[in-house]
Amino acid sequence: MKDTTKNIIFENVKLFDGEKIIENATIVIKDGLIADVLDKDEAIQDDQAEFTGQVYNLKGRTLLPGFIDAHTHLDLHGMADTYDENLVEDKLRAIRAAKEMETTLQAGFTTIRNLGSVNGIDISVKAAVEQGIINGPRILTSGKILCITAPGSEYFNGLYEEVNGYDAFKEAAREQLKLGADVLKIMATGAIMNPGGVAGAVQPDVDEIKAVVEEGDKLNKKVASHAHGAEGIKNSIKAGVHTIEHGTFADEEALEMMLQHNIYYVPTLAPDYFMTEYGKEGGVAPFMVEKLKHKKEARIKTLRKAVEMGIKVASGSDAGTPYNFQGNNAREMALMVEYGIMSSQEALKTGTKIAAKACGLEGEVGQIKQGMEADLIVIDGNPVEEINLITDTKNIQLIMKSGKIVKDVLSRS
Ligand SMILES: [Zn+2]
Repeated sequence: MKDTTKNIIFENVKLFDGEKIIENATIVIKDGLIADVLDKDEAIQDDQAEFTGQVYNLKGRTLLPGFIDAHTHLDLHGMADTYDENLVEDKLRAIRAAKEMETTLQAGFTTIRNLGSVNGIDISVKAAVEQGIINGPRILTSGKILCITAPGSEYFNGLYEEVNGYDAFKEAAREQLKLGADVLKIMATGAIMNPGGVAGAVQPDVDEIKAVVEEGDKLNKKVASHAHGAEGIKNSIKAGVHTIEHGTFADEEALEMMLQHNIYYVPTLAPDYFMTEYGKEGGVAPFMVEKLKHKKEARIKTLRKAVEMGIKVASGSDAGTPYNFQGNNAREMALMVEYGIMSSQEALKTGTKIAAKACGLEGEVGQIKQGMEADLIVIDGNPVEEINLITDTKNIQLIMKSGKIVKDVLSRS
């Protein structure tokens, strides 16, 4: 929803434009879009001379693109044992998710890509945001996750659509698209978070994944593939998917294929971090803790190698998994720095410019650039120097989505 009643200028800005820092910039917002980005040597141009809107002097605070989370589950609640999520009735889950989308927006996330939702709750919550019933981020929806008949699916009642064979995958993809999916999500390998799921094991055949890609292509929708094991990653890439989620046990060949095929890698470090942090003592299901033992280190190693090779990495928190509460989405970027995998500046790119590309939203969001949606946040301090500033919402002093201010604790000048 665009707010066309106000024009806004941000002056004296330390700008992180999605790529680099620009000192003393001026940003002009008009009709919900970024109308101009001026550096310190450029004067406000003629067409802005009649500007009568509001002026914010940021006094050197950092202005960044609104963050993007490329992998969430908005109707999961971060319960210690994911099975307990099933015990909450769908309508209540939807109301809870709506409230938590407000929390997510208030954490500076103006866009999320939801990869898997029980009975299409994400599609309804997205509609509520778009109709202005609730405040929330821009939401890309997947509806249900498409997977083969396999042990463990019953652990997520209503989340998976179990299908088998090329034709059935086609039909299931069409069904999610009809319901309003913006992106299709498939399980290419087993999972960590259900009993019986073998994380490294291949699930659908290449032609089954291909069926989903073909249906997505017809409507220009991307396919996100949950793939821990190397063979599942390779099958996904052969079939033409666009993003690899998790990628835990990627071998040299799998990583090389990601690079060659321009695949975006969404590692999702946060669930491992939170589940290990809270462990069995915190009520995390013992089988999850067991499965995590080797996986956490493997994933960090894979990500490090992927970054060294130049594979494009997008930040996705897997929000909603145990203790990984909605609104803590920024932890993912902070972990990439904490593990020594990349600099703060590179980590911020994974949650802005690169995440936008992974989601197919380049040119719309993820950068502070003329003509883009006015999705931005103002942080007290410089997260390029101190990444942990982004994990405490108190440091986020202003949030704007499509030109509409949804948080403002700055004194106005
Ligand atoms: Zn997930």
